[in-house]
Amino acid sequence: MIRLIYASAATCDFSESKLMQLLGKARSNNETANVSGLLLYAKGNFFQVLEGEKSAVEVLFSRIQQDERHTSVVVLDRSEITHRNFPNWSMGFKNLEQFDKTQLRGYNDFLERQLTAEDFGEIGPDVIYLIEQFKRIW
Ligand code: FAD
Repeated sequence: MIRLIYASAATCDFSESKLMQLLGKARSNNETANVSGLLLYAKGNFFQVLEGEKSAVEVLFSRIQQDERHTSVVVLDRSEITHRNFPNWSMGFKNLEQFDKTQLRGYNDFLERQLTAEDFGEIGPDVIYLIEQFKRIW
């Protein structure tokens, strides 16, 4: 299995209902493909973890990359794994616009900024840390 983490920038405003629409589709597709993970949204940026069989994750990711609702897709981590971090989630989700970020240990202000592809490279390790935090507090 592999775990793939990427960041991207939304190309349009994502209202709560638009996010829910995206998630509804994602969850049913992911369940079929046995892909689990987490999607975070903050200030127009997405951070997503996809985990599952390598081929299933890669096929899904190539579809996601082509989605015109976001751009500047930057892979932050692509690792082989022996177990899933989010086994029960076809796609866990947090809209960080409505989340008390001070709950996050070692809170980093990158969640308050609209980031560019260059920024994504720099904050890679922070995002991975953030995702670990979500596993702890969920
Ligand atoms: P359909 O839903 O029929 O979509 C067909 C095409 O229309 C696709 O090209 C799609 O990009 C586009 N499309 C669909 N709805 C809209 C819309 N409301 N506005 C504009 N274009 C649209 N999909 C998953 O299956 N799992 C995921 O975990 C996942 N995560 C995503 C994360 C992000 C940040 C984004 C932006 C998209 C994500 N998607 C995910 C959606 C993915 O990119 C594809 O849209 C989806 O997988 C296609 O599903 P489908 O083959 O059933 O086709």
